Amino acid sequence: MRSSILIIYTGGTIGMKTDPDTGTLIPFDFSAIYEEFPSLKRLKVDLEVRTMNPVIDSSNVQPHNWVTLAELIRENYDRYDGFVVLHGTDTMSYTASALSFMFENLTKPVVFTGSQIPIGVLRTDGRENLITAIEIAGAHDAEGHPLVPEVSLYFQNHLYRANRTTKRSAEALSAFYSYNYPPLADVGVNITYHHHLIRQPERYDEPLRVATRFSDEVCIIKLFPGLTEQTLRSILSIEGLKAVVLETYGAGNAPTAEWFIRPLEEAIARGMIVLNITQCKGGGVAMDLYETGLRLQQIGVSSGYDMTIEAAVTKLMYLLGANLSTAQIKEQLKVPLRGEFTR
Ligand code: ASP
Repeated sequence: MRSSILIIYTGGTIGMKTDPDTGTLIPFDFSAIYEEFPSLKRLKVDLEVRTMNPVIDSSNVQPHNWVTLAELIRENYDRYDGFVVLHGTDTMSYTASALSFMFENLTKPVVFTGSQIPIGVLRTDGRENLITAIEIAGAHDAEGHPLVPEVSLYFQNHLYRANRTTKRSAEALSAFYSYNYPPLADVGVNITYHHHLIRQPERYDEPLRVATRFSDEVCIIKLFPGLTEQTLRSILSIEGLKAVVLETYGAGNAPTAEWFIRPLEEAIARGMIVLNITQCKGGGVAMDLYETGLRLQQIGVSSGYDMTIEAAVTKLMYLLGANLSTAQIKEQLKVPLRGEFTR
């Protein structure tokens, strides 16, 4: 059985090649993909390509770009078996996490990938990333069900759950990593899928639902020794701010001093949501472990468990956009909606 895949190019390094005449980087034409990579014809997939207009460096991505992308996938959802999104690496984990929350009842693969070296440069990592992402997006079992029906991110031999990833290197070709959840698939001579780690839809006949509203009334406060009460208070008093991701130390620890606790307590009493995420890459928040975490729990700070900062920010933007009450949002923060944390 052949699969039909829609490739969506949004921008980023992967879409560049060297002009043979001048040696400068110029855009790669993905619509000529079969001419560029004739070997793609050997895969059992039919490919079509859409290029976003305009294409953007992913550092310029804003939540409205997530909505445009999700809507493009929704419009084409019934026509394709899977989707490959080519995206700049800088904010790929944000976009891919956001889409994971936007899609409810997703039953088809949406695989994000990109590259560190432009696709049209001899030593590129983009060719393998692209080809394997296509193969994964088209992979299905004997009944025709896709092997990875979730939003995932493929980079350098590993397929990850997208909302568990983080860009970890501006240099290494293995630019992404998932510190708190194992890969969904490993790629060597063969592609080995870890089926027990892949989310499966509860039902295949539920229609796809796409949430298209995001709130930007969110910010991040990263703790460091030397943070002052004045800085903390001025951030917490930003007009319209509804939620703060507090990047704490270790297992979710923060100063116990009154100058730190009091402003947070007051903000929470006013209805502010404060979500505790650790600055550590691996492991998560356990606020009952130390006195320094317990104080946060006592004043009503929510645990982010082992979520990435990308998943935390986009989940809050998604929940705030859904017009829920503060109490409802706090309840939703306690449950993994798309496998974004482990308790
Ligand atoms: N600045 C580029 C981007 O994120 C980097 C990349 O694609 O790797 O769009």
